[in-house]
Amino acid sequence: MSKIIEQEYDLKLEKGHAICFDFDGVIHKYREGWKDGSIYDEANPEVLDLMLFLQKVGMPIFICSTRKPEEIIEWWNKQNFWCKAISMNDEETFWKDVEHVGVTNMKKPAQMYIDDRAYKYTGQTVKEFILDNSEEKEE
Ligand SMILES: [Mg+2]
Repeated sequence: MSKIIEQEYDLKLEKGHAICFDFDGVIHKYREGWKDGSIYDEANPEVLDLMLFLQKVGMPIFICSTRKPEEIIEWWNKQNFWCKAISMNDEETFWKDVEHVGVTNMKKPAQMYIDDRAYKYTGQTVKEFILDNSEEKEE
């Protein structure tokens, strides 16, 4: 299926440039929030498909989370996913590995961040921000 999509659409993403995924609420379903701090919920298969697709078309994938990287790596590597997760070197700026999923708790450069809490900033004023994040008051 991804082959067909690739042939019919010109993806506006650059091969060789990393894409960053948030963990909780994106990869980890996280349906009850932080709870006791454990990784208690199942993985989101739609996101895993997306990660696999992006990696197979040549985009390095990494996970950035405030969790300890070792915790995510241990969880990921128990799941029998298509590739292993490894810790990213804090000294290296750019993630280029398309054989592994990198894991870090440091912000690293990426052409896109996929996060359930993100607000895409495109120059909004305070008023526009408030309107984007409000509901109209009922009189
Ligand atoms: Mg999140």
